[in-house]
Amino acid sequence: MGLELGKRHEWVLQSEIRNMSIECDRIGGINLSQGVCDTEVPLEVRVGAREAIEEGVNTYTRYDGLSEIRVAIAAKQYAFAKMKVDPENEIIVSAGATGALYCACLALLNPEDEVIVFEPYYGYHVSTLIATQARPVYVRMEPPDWTFSPDDLERAVSTRTRAIILNSPANPSGKVFSLRELEVLAGLASRHDLFVFTDEIYEHFVYGENGHIPIATLPGMRERTITISGLSKTFSITGWRIGYCLCDARWARPIGYFNDLIYVCAPAPLQLGVARGLMSLDSRYYSSLADIYRVKRDKICQALSRGGFRPHVPEGAYYVLADISSVPGRNGKERAMKILNNLKVACVPGEAFYHAEGGDNLARFCFAKDDLVLEEACRRIESSQWK
Ligand code: PLP
Repeated sequence: MGLELGKRHEWVLQSEIRNMSIECDRIGGINLSQGVCDTEVPLEVRVGAREAIEEGVNTYTRYDGLSEIRVAIAAKQYAFAKMKVDPENEIIVSAGATGALYCACLALLNPEDEVIVFEPYYGYHVSTLIATQARPVYVRMEPPDWTFSPDDLERAVSTRTRAIILNSPANPSGKVFSLRELEVLAGLASRHDLFVFTDEIYEHFVYGENGHIPIATLPGMRERTITISGLSKTFSITGWRIGYCLCDARWARPIGYFNDLIYVCAPAPLQLGVARGLMSLDSRYYSSLADIYRVKRDKICQALSRGGFRPHVPEGAYYVLADISSVPGRNGKERAMKILNNLKVACVPGEAFYHAEGGDNLARFCFAKDDLVLEEACRRIESSQWK
């Protein structure tokens, strides 16, 4: 047998988001394909991390994170969700929300277990399931409100189903699940005794009437819910890799052991920077974040409409899925490439968010951009010839 790649490499093929970013760099376009926020990191967070390095906080931390950040996360979760979390036993600080979900899947799922995923989905969720040998089972959400049918959901359950992945506010649709919808999910999870992995990384990016409701706060849901979040988006620190999961101590410990195995710990001084930021920023920081991003959302949605694309105005997160069927092409990829080549703006073709048929009339535009860059992107989109 010659040298060859292991079978697992097929599970992590080049993502369409990375492809579009590479194409975008090649032609020097504006990259609205990737969710990298280039808004400013709060001063308290930057100073906190800088001082932590100078103070010598540069070695491994406890496998579940420094006590300062666990205490700060527990305080924030209580302040925003009235959810009591024990910082000593119920929090695992990991390498981003991505690391937290990966460790949770390793600790709580068996190979061949089925996990329900809402479609359009965030690709990492599906790739994480596949890489950990679980099987995604899809339930479609339909525009314009990205609603799902409780019957579809019930039909997706089999004897192998072990969990549901929820993402609210959602990437890419911007959907914020309502209390009624969360109750349907909670009912299903309780009836079939399922875990709920809930990715709440966009918890502070909410613009519409539906506020963010952590599903763990619904009656009976605390024990079965693994709440995953992080500061990548809230503090614009995607490269720092600080995220966490909150869950019952029974699950937290094994999740933490996988975190230790894979990452050892999240970056020590950056944990402290985040802890200091969490402790010193008050609720005005978080509400102003939503105000700032609501203006960006309105700007890009208006530009997309003027450019002949039909945006599905998001209630949360910082992406817009827009109907780009006015652009000629056989599929979303061809349309997205035409948009890139003609307007010098990169977006992600909709197929990237569907497992089979679907999304070929859609593209995702990220609006987590500095105002000047976003304005230039909007000017280009408005100048489209496909009106
Ligand atoms: N979850 C969702 C839904 C995302 O959209 C992203 C980033 O785009 C992440 C998680 C990544 O979070 P982190 O940087 O904390 O790993």
